Amino acid sequence: MAARQRQNFPKAVRIQALERADGRCEGELPTGDPCPCAIPTGGRIFDHVIPDANGGRPTLDNCRVLCLPCDRAKYSADRRAIDKARR
Ligand SMILES: [Zn+2]
Repeated sequence: MAARQRQNFPKAVRIQALERADGRCEGELPTGDPCPCAIPTGGRIFDHVIPDANGGRPTLDNCRVLCLPCDRAKYSADRRAIDKARR
């Protein structure tokens, strides 16, 4: 998997995010529906809602717990947003 430089969320934020997510993915499908995935322990991704490259902070408000497919989809969208912001 390609390495992605990102600011990690502090442990306290990750714990709170996991409690909020309650074992579910907090992602959104391209259709706009909430992702129905349950996230296996070890398969979860802590995603920045606003990419850190675009000034997103490692806070609970900016943290979403995602499954791998949601993270991949989000990554492409993030790249486009970041490239746009840099232009
Ligand atoms: Zn998902």
